[in-house]
Amino acid sequence: MPDLATSLTLCSLCPKLCSHVCPVYRASARETLTPQAKMSSLLALRRTESAEPEPSTALPLYGCTGCGACATACLHKVEPSQHLVRGRANAERADIGHPALADLPERQFQRAQEASRAILRDPLLSTRLARAGEVGLLPSCLPRRQRGDGPVEEAHKLLTVLDRLRAHRSDLPEYGLLTVGSAGYALYAAGLDESFRLYAESLAHKVADLAMLVTTCSACTYLLKVVYPQHGVPLVPKVLHLSEFLLPFASALPITRRVQRVTYHSPCHLSRRLKLDAPRQLLQRLAVEVEELSPSGDEALCCGAGGLLPQTDPDLATAMAQEAMATAHPAVPVVSGCPTCSYHLTKSGHSADDLLDLLASATAT
Ligand code: SF4
Ligand code: SF4
Repeated sequence: MPDLATSLTLCSLCPKLCSHVCPVYRASARETLTPQAKMSSLLALRRTESAEPEPSTALPLYGCTGCGACATACLHKVEPSQHLVRGRANAERADIGHPALADLPERQFQRAQEASRAILRDPLLSTRLARAGEVGLLPSCLPRRQRGDGPVEEAHKLLTVLDRLRAHRSDLPEYGLLTVGSAGYALYAAGLDESFRLYAESLAHKVADLAMLVTTCSACTYLLKVVYPQHGVPLVPKVLHLSEFLLPFASALPITRRVQRVTYHSPCHLSRRLKLDAPRQLLQRLAVEVEELSPSGDEALCCGAGGLLPQTDPDLATAMAQEAMATAHPAVPVVSGCPTCSYHLTKSGHSADDLLDLLASATAT
């Protein structure tokens, strides 16, 4: 990736060659939200750093979900989202961060505490915590659509699926739950560098004696695999997305209800950023026919959940979910590789499940 100065020069001279793939621009049709315009806002902010910048100068920096589509399309390998997150950090330091994120560290801390307490209060889950040398399971932090009890429901599903698999594969590594709530994506995406680093260091300390860390959320997977080391917080355990962990055991999954057809929604952090194909391969075991939402591949549309867009511009984030789901067939279930994405996709009015939902229903006795 070119450095910031080179990227800003390249983008400012570019005839917006990546605009057509930016899902935020597509859904908003606002010229201020093309990748090039967002980079121009960043340039303007840097030029006014010594003066007192207007808060409105920073707002376009928040119109990015970090989907990486522009970087894939860019001939110069510029990655606007990486620079825009750094720009958000600068905006925070200049006290012109997005007003919707004002008390984010407190909310993030409270949410993590609630998730942890909820798991510890649950009579079954509290007896299934990860021990030294085991695989730690990190449930996603979002409320799931039907019940809203978030990590607790997900933790039960994770254990249920893995326990069913263990009955057929005794060589499955020992596993248990983590109670840490999330990997801290919101803090990272808000550019709250200090809070994020403290959160990351605390999590790294808690998991230091584990052999492996397994996550369901696409953004958490990317964060733990890539962003933690970038921020000087390498993790001792190996990090795997649930699909990567299960794939070597896929043939032993006790499938009782194989679905006829599913439409796969490919999470940006797994496909474009981490180049992970494991969710697709696992789906082949769970469904007879797997098709994809259109457009697919490098131009697959982001669901709108990333980059804190649901907090900074909820209507636009919902419009993105609607656009991403526009080609979904009403009679064919949509399955995403990420619970955060599937939860956000349901805001389109169309139902959506994630891989863990499908694993739980396909192995039900
Ligand atoms: S990211 Fe690449 S294609 Fe997009 S505006 Fe910048 S230079 Fe142009
Ligand atoms: S990372 Fe995605 S949302 Fe952000 S500017 Fe690029 S294409 Fe648009």
